Amino acid sequence: MTKFALAIHGGCGVMAKLDLSEAEWNAARRDLGRALEAGYAVLERGGRAIDAVQAAVVVMEDSPHFNAGHGAALNENGIHELDASIMDGETLAAGAICGARHIRNPIIGARAVLEHGDAVLLAGPAADRFAESKGLAVEEQAYFTTEKRKRALAAMKAHAAAGTAFAASEAEKHGTVGAVALDQHGHLAAATSTGGYNNKPEGRVGDSPIIGAGTYARDGVCAISGTGKGEFFIRHVVGHEIAARMAYLGEDVETASAKVIMEDLKIHNIGAGLVAVGADGSVAAPYNTDGMFRGWVTDAGEFRVASHAEVMSYP
Ligand code: ASP
Repeated sequence: MTKFALAIHGGCGVMAKLDLSEAEWNAARRDLGRALEAGYAVLERGGRAIDAVQAAVVVMEDSPHFNAGHGAALNENGIHELDASIMDGETLAAGAICGARHIRNPIIGARAVLEHGDAVLLAGPAADRFAESKGLAVEEQAYFTTEKRKRALAAMKAHAAAGTAFAASEAEKHGTVGAVALDQHGHLAAATSTGGYNNKPEGRVGDSPIIGAGTYARDGVCAISGTGKGEFFIRHVVGHEIAARMAYLGEDVETASAKVIMEDLKIHNIGAGLVAVGADGSVAAPYNTDGMFRGWVTDAGEFRVASHAEVMSYP
C-alpha cells in the first residue's frame, strides 16, 4: 500500500493532572482516537488529505473536551468567537474564517471558503452569513458553551483582577485542535480550529486562521498545525518558518519543528506545540509545555494517543 500519514492535536499547555478527573482525561483521549479513526478512514480508502484533516477536526470540534466548536473558549464578554483554517498542499488553496459566532463546525466553514469563496479569510458576521448561505449548520451561542469554559472564564477574570494572570493554569487559558495528513497520492493538507483563549479581547484573532502562522501545507515539504499563544505564532510565521527551514536548509520535519517550538518560541516563555507531517510521511509532535493532546497513526496502521509523556494505544 502507498504510504499515508495522519497526526492530530487537541491543544498544548494542559495540563496539571489535577485539572481534570481521570474519567475526563480518558474521555478526551478517546475522542482523539475517534478523530484519528475519522481521518484514517478517508486516507485508507485513497481519499484526499484535505478531506482527512477536515474529518478529524470535525470530531474534535464536536467533542466538549477541546477548545473548538462545542466547548470553545469564551472571550472577555462571555462570547464565543471562532477561528479556523484549512489548506490544501497540492494547490496551495486555503480557506479560513475568524471571529465567527454561529458556524457549528468552523472547519467546515473554512472549507466552504476554500471551495466557494473569492476570499481566503472571511471575518465575523460575514463569515457566519457566508456559511449559512452555503447551507452549513449554524447554532446559537449556547451550543458552544460548556460549564468548564464558564468556570475557566471566571478563573481568568479573577486572575486578571488580582494581577496574577501569569499564574493561571494552561487549561484555563487556551487550547486548539488541528490535523495534518499525507494521502496516498502524495498530497499534504493541514487544518486548525479554535476558540482562541479564555478572556481574550473581543475581536481578537489568533494564529489558527492565519495561513502560514497556525496552519500551513505545501506538497513536497510539510503540513503544520499549531497550538499555543497565537500572537507569537503570527510573529514567527511558524507554519511557513518550518516549511522554509525544510525547503531551504534541507532539515527534516522533526528538526525544523523542534527548532521553532523548543528554541524560537520557548524564549518568549509561552506554551507552544504543533503537529507536522513531512512529504515522506514522517510525523513530529513537539511541545514545550507539560503536555499536549495529540495522536498519530504509525506506519503499521496503529493508533497512538497521548496527553502527557506517556503514549497509549487506541483503542
Ligand atoms: N493558538 C490559539 C490562539 O492563539 C490558542 C491555542 O492554541 O491555545 O488562538
